[in-house]
Amino acid sequence: MATILRDGDLGLLSGKVAVIGYGSQGHAHALNLRDSGIQVEVGLREGSASWEAAEAAGLGVRTIAEAVGGAQLVAILLPDQVQPQVFAEHVAPSLAPGAAVLFAHGFNVLYERVAPAGANDVIMVAPKGPGHVVRRLFTEGYGTPALIAVHQDASGRARDLALAYAVGIGAGRAGILETTFKEETETDLFGEQAVLCGGTAELVRAGFETLVAAGYQPEIAYYECLHELKLIVDLMWEGGLAGMRYSISDTAEFGDYTRGRRVIDEHVREAMKAILDDIQSGAFAREWVEDMENGEARLKAMRAEAAQTALETVGKELRSLMHRAGDH
Ligand code: NDP
Ligand code: MG
Ligand code: MG
Repeated sequence: MATILRDGDLGLLSGKVAVIGYGSQGHAHALNLRDSGIQVEVGLREGSASWEAAEAAGLGVRTIAEAVGGAQLVAILLPDQVQPQVFAEHVAPSLAPGAAVLFAHGFNVLYERVAPAGANDVIMVAPKGPGHVVRRLFTEGYGTPALIAVHQDASGRARDLALAYAVGIGAGRAGILETTFKEETETDLFGEQAVLCGGTAELVRAGFETLVAAGYQPEIAYYECLHELKLIVDLMWEGGLAGMRYSISDTAEFGDYTRGRRVIDEHVREAMKAILDDIQSGAFAREWVEDMENGEARLKAMRAEAAQTALETVGKELRSLMHRAGDH
């Protein structure tokens, strides 16, 4: 069993922390750190759409180079695609020797797309949840678990600094685990590809399309295969698979044990292993970086195609009835 850490020395973060980017993770880290008593400055590009929101939340905002200047720790919370360029142009020239550079995901460091100088600590604090949840749970008194790792320990206290930052964003309330950039990146990519995003999205789509092709009403197929998924996953989140099975009917539980493995069969496990092989060999990273360098042409085409599917058009209509205005 891994050791789960709950506490760190916030006093190690006595200087300025520059949070670069104010998106999903950026806003959550900046606000949680600020509420933990840490001196935070947000760094954004000039004319940034996020500038006003950060100021309205009571945070100091400056250009990226200005925020980096004099910072003890610089958290790079930008989309992974833009980090290499922004780091080289706006972060590195202003970075104090001895400052720590922090990432929320290991991709760019593992695949050597960003390589801070040897005088800088290079650390990771990767929350295991979307940024908006990291912020919401913090304000409710809870936390989101996080992984910490050290890639480069120039100061001799890089690990303790990562731990302090994780505590500052509230992860200590939920649990902090030590890992490496390699383990975090590879498991994170595998999880999102095979289970959380890719696997689940295709499971939902296949179920929906199977029912519709058999002549059932698309609206009923949508409720069954997508809408109810959240309710089931909430039960899993609260009590594991057993907790979910306790709440569903015995009929559903019998169908679960006898039919689930016919869907997720040996072939699916072999496909998962092949996906993991692609991640470990770097083949996935090369493919994605190639698309980044091509203006994300494939990503944009696949996004447009996915938006046209019946699942999405039916869902849009049904959600507009179920959710209050302003909800997503
Ligand atoms: P976002 O896409 O939400 O980041 C948006 C922010 O980046 C905005 O403030 C935006 O500013 C700024 N930005 C975008 N492009 C540029 C650019 N070219 N130059 C300067 N600023 C730019 O990022 P995420 O929060 O999703 O991801 C941040 C990191 O956290 C990544 O490493 C990701 O892998 C990791 N992570 C993300 C999770 C998540 O929940 N999304 C979960 C765990 C880890 P502007 O308003 O100017 O566009
Ligand atoms: Mg991920
Ligand atoms: Mg993840």
